[in-house]
Amino acid sequence: MILVLLGAPGAGKGTQALRLVERHDLVQLSTGEMLRTAVASGSGIGLEAKEAMEAGQLVSDRIVVGIIAERIALGEGGKGFILDGFPRTLAQAEALDRILVERDLDVDLVVDIAIDDAAITRRITGRFSCVDCGEGYHDEFKRPVIEGVCDGCGGTDFERRPDDNEETVRARLKAYHDQTTPLVAYYQARGVLRQVDGMAGIDDVTRQIDEVLKAA
Ligand code: AMP
Repeated sequence: MILVLLGAPGAGKGTQALRLVERHDLVQLSTGEMLRTAVASGSGIGLEAKEAMEAGQLVSDRIVVGIIAERIALGEGGKGFILDGFPRTLAQAEALDRILVERDLDVDLVVDIAIDDAAITRRITGRFSCVDCGEGYHDEFKRPVIEGVCDGCGGTDFERRPDDNEETVRARLKAYHDQTTPLVAYYQARGVLRQVDGMAGIDDVTRQIDEVLKAA
């Protein structure tokens, strides 16, 4: 199964991908995570990607397609992949088709998590996560049960993404509308697109996605 999670920044792709990994034995491939790791390691790719990421712009198709192709070539693992944050441009979607066809694979399902622009800034600027286990939190919607202590692992170090600020969010949203929304029509024409209501609560969105998967 090759499942693509589509949706604006802050729609909940990462949160839902983590849940899908646990429930459906799928492997999450997040280009955002891969790029953040590259930036942290100071690799050539990281240095190239850093500026675009900090400005809320998309990293070049060449870099992103390169890292995802490398990862897909390592094999599926589990029952398949969840692509979280990739593709984000038509050129990336076409490159993905070429990578998959070589392996006799295809995009099976694209879940578009729909969310209002107005909700995005509030969602993104409030989020933080545990450094040790990656569990996600939010200033307003999901604080740790014990203040300052991770519910998942008991860790006490938390971090915020440097690109989760209001100015960068505006640029990320523009990139999404200009470059990523054409993918909705692209996958709709292929008959693989399903939309879920991302304005619902986290558990409800998970339930909607489970239903889509069941019907697939
Ligand atoms: P994300 O964690 O998915 O929100 O991605 C964080 C940032 O990484 C984005 O704002 C882009 O700068 C970059 N990025 C992640 N995935 C892609 C992609 N598929 N194409 C281009 N840039 C990407």
